[in-house]
Amino acid sequence: MSADIKSITSTPMRVGVLGFGGLGQAAAKLIAPKSEMILVAVADLKGYAYASQGLNVDKCISAYASQGSVGYLEAGGTLSSQSIQELIDCSEVDGYFLALPNLPNTFIASVAQMFMRSHWQGVLVDAIKRTSAVEQLLTLKSDFQAAKITYLTGCGATPGLLTAAAVLASQSYAEIHSVKITFGVGIANWEAYRATIREDIAHLPGYSVERARAMTDAQVEALLDETNGVLTLENMEHADDVMLELAGICDRDRVTVGGVVDTRNPTKPISTNVQVTGRTFEGRISTHTFTLGDETSMAANVCGTAFGYLKAGIELQRRSIYGLFTAAQIMPQFVK
Ligand code: NAD
Repeated sequence: MSADIKSITSTPMRVGVLGFGGLGQAAAKLIAPKSEMILVAVADLKGYAYASQGLNVDKCISAYASQGSVGYLEAGGTLSSQSIQELIDCSEVDGYFLALPNLPNTFIASVAQMFMRSHWQGVLVDAIKRTSAVEQLLTLKSDFQAAKITYLTGCGATPGLLTAAAVLASQSYAEIHSVKITFGVGIANWEAYRATIREDIAHLPGYSVERARAMTDAQVEALLDETNGVLTLENMEHADDVMLELAGICDRDRVTVGGVVDTRNPTKPISTNVQVTGRTFEGRISTHTFTLGDETSMAANVCGTAFGYLKAGIELQRRSIYGLFTAAQIMPQFVK
């Protein structure tokens, strides 16, 4: 390989993380030892941090833990109530992972529009969960194309890793009868993943996104006390259905998602898996099951996948391929 080519291919991708809660911090830790990507930008509700040569992840985490925002970081930190907008305006970033709460259910779509209004060009990846949230992004498809943004949606664990696994599994079949996703999540305390837990509560009978968003922390605690910290979720409105329908795998009503979340124990209450049942071209009915290792955390499965899609998106962007894609349409790459 000539020196010139080597220097182009070995230039690390400059990435950013929006939202610095449970998933955002896990994303930063996961990316720190990688050589192909450097974390240059981070934003939370109260501030942002930017360093073109790379941020010190430990210092970002300790600023957030001790003072409540990465904006307090001595080198590169800025306090702001418009953190995302200011970061877009002052930084050079190839792609962002949006580890933001989707509360209200339109928030991530509004952030995407903010990028377009700023004439920003690059790759955006989300780990959005609800069908209705992905549908909002689908309506922006031609806008992303025109803005030269490559947007990959539903790139967490479910939707994300398990949806992509369902696409792979479906290759054995002539017809897909059902896709059944069951997830188990174990976290030591709910405060580490407030948005995730609020969004899960929104799926319980009698709750909505707005009701869950309006709950105080004390009300969330009280609800969790009633169930010993465990949330059992059935027939969730999860975007795996629309993503698999769009990818031509099966109608959305054949896709079901449910799970058990233990907010007081990092051990998974049940194994996370996807079962894909179908009929082969010879007429046999069978089920493929893909089960995640119980030792893998939600953070590992979501953030690993999100960066795999971010790398794939950056490759698409460099080939001038823009618009909206889902995790069911693109194969994630592996970030070294
Ligand atoms: P969290 O509550 O721990 O952290 C949210 C972060 O976003 C905080 O740092 C907060 O300061 C920041 N933030 C909030 N509003 C902001 C704003 N306007 N501007 C800038 N920053 C802002 O959240 P979490 O539990 O890490 O969850 C993040 C998202 O990941 C949620 O939407 C959740 O549903 C999603 N998620 C997806 C999957 C999946 O498999 N697809 C799994 C888990 C979580």
